[in-house]
Amino acid sequence: MWSPSARFSLLALLGIAVPATIVATLGYISIRQWEASSELLYREQARDMASMAVAKVEMILRREEDAFLDRLQGALDADRRTAEAVAEALARSPLVRRLYLVTRRGELLYPKTWSEGDAGVIAPLIAEATQGKLERGGKREVVAGHRVCLALLVRRGGEPVLAAFIRDPEALRREIFETALGALESPTILAVLDHEGRAVYSRAPIADAQPILSVTFRETLPDWRLAVYQTADAAPRRAVRRQVMLFTGAYGVLLLVIVAGIVATWRLARRETEMARLKSDFVANVSHDLKTPLSVIRMFGETLDMGRMTDEGGRREYYRVITRESERLSRLIDNVLDFSRIESGRQTYRMAATAVEPLIRSTLEAFDYPLVQHGFKVDVQVAPDLPEVWMDADAVGQALANLIDNAIKYSGDERALTVSARVVDGRLAIAVADRGLGIAAHEHARIFEKFYRVGRSDTQGRRGSGVGLALVRHIAEAHGGDVTVDSAPGEGSRFTLRLPLAGRRDG
Ligand code: ADP
Repeated sequence: MWSPSARFSLLALLGIAVPATIVATLGYISIRQWEASSELLYREQARDMASMAVAKVEMILRREEDAFLDRLQGALDADRRTAEAVAEALARSPLVRRLYLVTRRGELLYPKTWSEGDAGVIAPLIAEATQGKLERGGKREVVAGHRVCLALLVRRGGEPVLAAFIRDPEALRREIFETALGALESPTILAVLDHEGRAVYSRAPIADAQPILSVTFRETLPDWRLAVYQTADAAPRRAVRRQVMLFTGAYGVLLLVIVAGIVATWRLARRETEMARLKSDFVANVSHDLKTPLSVIRMFGETLDMGRMTDEGGRREYYRVITRESERLSRLIDNVLDFSRIESGRQTYRMAATAVEPLIRSTLEAFDYPLVQHGFKVDVQVAPDLPEVWMDADAVGQALANLIDNAIKYSGDERALTVSARVVDGRLAIAVADRGLGIAAHEHARIFEKFYRVGRSDTQGRRGSGVGLALVRHIAEAHGGDVTVDSAPGEGSRFTLRLPLAGRRDG
């Protein structure tokens, strides 16, 4: 059912496609793994960076607040009036928006009054803190709330004072977050989220960005978080997807190339097989074609030799048959020899200005006998004013003979042959038309190929070598012209040989 070449192609396809698919699958799996591990690595790096950023923010914040408290401590210890010194310390600390100094009993030392309802927020904190760790450690330590920070300071006199201050959000953003995070080199976006999850600071707009992870601050900013976002196009998954697409595309192209290669090989192999078959047909056909005229010549020769033919008219007829058959034999041999010369590129043409009408008439003359014998109605239409044309007369005569030979060979019931010559569009057009079997349109291109015979012409029962039309085309092209066919099954054929009037002088 399957031809050997088809089987070979299928095996080759499988042999290549199966390993290619395995390679592609492994490649795909490794890309997926790489995707997973790169995502992990990416997150780890993001976490490291976030932790580092948190530490940096806390360090700067603590340093700033320590500096403020130092100044405040200095103000409390100053000999000057406390209020003035405190106001001075406050002025140098933009981070602190408002400050209250309170005794442990809840007495407000600075400023004179509470503002904007701060008392309600701060007093409970103080009450809580005086029982808490501030008291225990006795150390100066900032206890930060969401807004309010507390620190215990000890005055020179020994009495501790609680400093409660409210941070200035704008200063926090500018002095702390911007300083700590602004200069960090990272493809991701860092943002500080407050205890309610609002972005207090971000290095770039985060509206379209995707959150990766967040790290919480410790005591300095309780419940605040540093969040890491990634921009849509920096996502590692997207990069991997691009890689996967690239890989898939490359694999697809590879597969396509392989398939195209196999198809090309298969076609080539099929062509070669076909050519080998055509060649063997050719040998068989040529041998047969040579044998027929030879046996006729021999039979007629022997008859004459034996002197059986006494009638002079009959003898002449026999001589004519022998001459005609030997001409046919030479034509056949010429065809084969010329064909082999053309194939090996050794064919040369002897060009000369040639009168067209005598060439046509002498070529037709050689077919007188078969034409008459088959009852052909022959019509020759040569335009009267044809110029001489630059050509190899033998070659063009041979091409013409091949066309006439075919017209006779592939004739049907209606036997008519028309040979015409005229100038069309500046070229000599010699047409050989018959009313024979005709040729289907899809065969028109192929019949000019070497060794090609329609349906191997077996069904038509006509012998032939399959090189006749190939030769006609070679000859036409060598003259810078061409040959075309106009034909339909059952309606006869018209072959037109067109040669440039001036010819190709380099031929
Ligand atoms: P062949 O030796 O078979 O005649 P050709 O190259 O001369 O080889 O022709 C190729 C094929 O074209 C032929 O086998 C025949 O089928 C077809 N053919 C050529 N001339 C004619 C024609 N005048 N009418 C019908 N078929 C033709």
